[in-house]
Amino acid sequence: MDNFSRYISQIKFFGFEKNKRIQETSVAVIGLGGLGSWLSEFLVRIGVKNLAIVDFDIVEEKNLNRQNFIIDDIGKLKIDSIEKRLKEVDNSVNIEKYKEINNKIFNRDIIFDCTDNIKSKYLINELSVYYNKPYIFASVVMDQGFVGLINPEQFCLYDIYKGKEDVLTCNITGVDFSAVIFAVSLMLKLFINYVFGNRDGILYHFNIRDKFYLEEIKVKSNNCKICKRKQFELIWNYLK
Ligand SMILES: [Zn+2]
Repeated sequence: MDNFSRYISQIKFFGFEKNKRIQETSVAVIGLGGLGSWLSEFLVRIGVKNLAIVDFDIVEEKNLNRQNFIIDDIGKLKIDSIEKRLKEVDNSVNIEKYKEINNKIFNRDIIFDCTDNIKSKYLINELSVYYNKPYIFASVVMDQGFVGLINPEQFCLYDIYKGKEDVLTCNITGVDFSAVIFAVSLMLKLFINYVFGNRDGILYHFNIRDKFYLEEIKVKSNNCKICKRKQFELIWNYLK
C-alpha cells in the first residue's frame, strides 16, 4: 500500500513514479540541531521511509526556540525524541539511531551533514569521498549560509573551505531561525532533485539580511588533497 491519499498533492505535481522513488530512497541525517531536527521530519513527511539519525546530544531548554523539540524532550537524547516525533508523523518509518558517526550510515543512498562544527564537516567529507557517496550539507551563521550537494567525483568540501578550521559557527555568532529554515528548504529541494536524477555537485550561498539573495558559486577542484589525491587524515578510526 503506497498510502496514495497521504501523498496526493505531491503525486499530482511529481507523478506517481517519482513519488515512489522518494519512498525508496534511504538517508542518513547527521546532527539533530536547528537543521537536522526539522529536515528529518520533512523528509518523512514527503515520504522517506528509511532513515539513520545521528547525534550524541541531549535536548536543552535553549534548543526550543529553533529546534524541533518540546518541553517534555528536555533531558532526553535528541535521537530518542526525534525517533518518537518521526513515528508520530508516519508509524511505518524505519529508523536506526546512532550517537556517533560510523561507516554503517554510509550504506545509505544519500547523507545529510547537518552538523554545526567544522571538524565534523571535514570528517563527513572525507568519509563521503572514501565511500564515493554524495551528500548534502548546510552551514548557517547569523542570517546567511552555504548549502550544497557534494558529489565527490566533482569537488568536495575541502575545495570550499580549504582546510580552514576557524570557520564561524552559529554557536559563536548566533543565528536567525528564518535563515535556518531557509537552508532546510534548500536541502530538501536538493534531495528531491537528487532522487530525480540530478547528481551534479552544486554550491549555493544565501543571505536574507535586507533582501533575499541567493547565488550559485562555481567550485574548482584543482588537485584537491582529499577528493583528487585521497590523502585522508580523519577517517581511519571510523572504517571498522
Ligand atoms: Zn576536494
